[in-house]
Amino acid sequence: MESKKSYQILLYYKYVHIENHEEFAAEHLAFCKELGLKGRILVAEEGINGTVSGTVEQTNKYMETIHNDPRFADMEFKIDEADGHAFKKMFVRPRKEIVSLRLENDINPNEKTGKYLSPKEFYEEMQKEDVIVLDARNDYEYEIGHFRGAINPGVDAFRDLPKWVKENLSEHKDKKILAYCTGGIRCEKLTGFLLEEGFKDVGQLHGGIIMYGKDEEVQGELYDGKCYVFDERISVPINKKENIIVSNCYYCGKKEDRYVNCANPDCNRQHVCCEECEEKYQRSCSDECRAHPRNMYRRELQKQNA
Ligand SMILES: [Zn+2]
Ligand SMILES: [Zn+2]
Repeated sequence: MESKKSYQILLYYKYVHIENHEEFAAEHLAFCKELGLKGRILVAEEGINGTVSGTVEQTNKYMETIHNDPRFADMEFKIDEADGHAFKKMFVRPRKEIVSLRLENDINPNEKTGKYLSPKEFYEEMQKEDVIVLDARNDYEYEIGHFRGAINPGVDAFRDLPKWVKENLSEHKDKKILAYCTGGIRCEKLTGFLLEEGFKDVGQLHGGIIMYGKDEEVQGELYDGKCYVFDERISVPINKKENIIVSNCYYCGKKEDRYVNCANPDCNRQHVCCEECEEKYQRSCSDECRAHPRNMYRRELQKQNA
C-alpha cells in the first residue's frame, strides 16, 4: 500500500531469546537515536516489545534492519500512517520480562500458548454460543472500546489477571475461551497460563485488535468504541462499518470517547472528558486538582494569551 502521510508508527513484538539483553538494549537505543526514531522499546531475555514513530524512510530502514537480524527475520510489524511523531523521546529499556504476569513459573509462549485465530476466525468464533470472549487488557483500555459481549476483568494491571482468572473463570474450564488484547503480546502469555491452569480450548486473536481493524474482510466489525494505544494518539478507530461510542464523559455523562490527562501534574489521571467539560472543569479530575498551583490547563491558557 502506498503511504499518503510522511510518518509511520510501528507496533511489534517477538518472543525470542536475546543474549545479553542489557547490552543489546544499549546498542539498540544508539541505533534508534541515530535513525531519528522516537518511542518505547522493552528488551528482556525473552524478547522484544516496541512501538516507535518516525518518517516513512526512518521506519522503513528500521524494519529492514530488524528483518536482517536472523532472530527477528519474521517480525510482524503493525504499521499506521501518521502526520508526525507519536512520542516525545526514545527509550530502550532492559527488563526482566517484556510483559509480566508475575508468575512463579513464567510462561514461555514458544512452548505453550493458545491457538492463533485470524481476524476472520475470531469474528466467526466469537458469535458462536457458549464461548467466553475475554479482554486481556486493563480496565481503562476496555472502557473506551472492546469486542461486543466481551468480559472485562476490570484489572488495573496485567499482572493481576492470574488471580482474577482463578477467582472468576475456574468453573468454566470446559468452555471455549477467546482472548484478545491490543497487538497480541499479552494474550501469548495469558493463554499459555490458561492452558497451564487446565482450560481445554483456548484461542487468541493473532495480531490483536489492531490487525483486526486492518483486516479487509472483517473491517473491525463487532468491535465497539476505539482501541486504546500507548502513544500520543491515546486511541485509534477500529470498526470501519459502525461507529459506536461505549464510554461516557466523567463529568456530564454524555457519550464520549476522548481521554484527557488531569491538568494537575502530580495527578495526571486519564479520564474520559467531552470538550465542553474540559473547559468548564479545567481538565481536572477533582476540585483539589483544579486548585493545584501548577494546574497545566491554566498554564496553557496563560501561554496562549501571552
Ligand atoms: Zn461532559
Ligand atoms: Zn486529578
